[in-house]
Amino acid sequence: MNCLFCKIIDGSISSKAVYQDEQCYAFADIHPQAPVHVLIVPREHIISLADVNDADKPLLGHLVSVAAEIACANRLGKGYRVVVNTGADGGQTVDHLHLHLLGGRQLTWPPG
Ligand code: AMP
Ligand code: ZN
Repeated sequence: MNCLFCKIIDGSISSKAVYQDEQCYAFADIHPQAPVHVLIVPREHIISLADVNDADKPLLGHLVSVAAEIACANRLGKGYRVVVNTGADGGQTVDHLHLHLLGGRQLTWPPG
């Protein structure tokens, strides 16, 4: 499968690992938008949040809780943001579900 994040997960494309377990892999975003910008990616190839089913609910909970753990490990006690861009209007550019963890600066709202 020609998927960038599957290749990052299998190691054929290099990345800076932040966290990994049997369900997910987290790595530094190559174009960071904040001092901390980590992508949390399920090992399973799921295209987007619009493609999950009931059986994926525990995985989704796990991904969100991993994001919170990484935030804690990076001392983001002042706050942070977890974003799941979904589909074309959502700004998704890589069609493998991923959470963005952004922190380390004051984030603005609304997003663009
Ligand atoms: P999205 O636009 O929500 O689909 O997010 C995709 C993210 O992947 C962007 O923030 C990119 O900067 C990031 N990205 C693209 N290629 C790589 C790569 N080789 N290593 C790490 N992050 C990447
Ligand atoms: Zn994939």
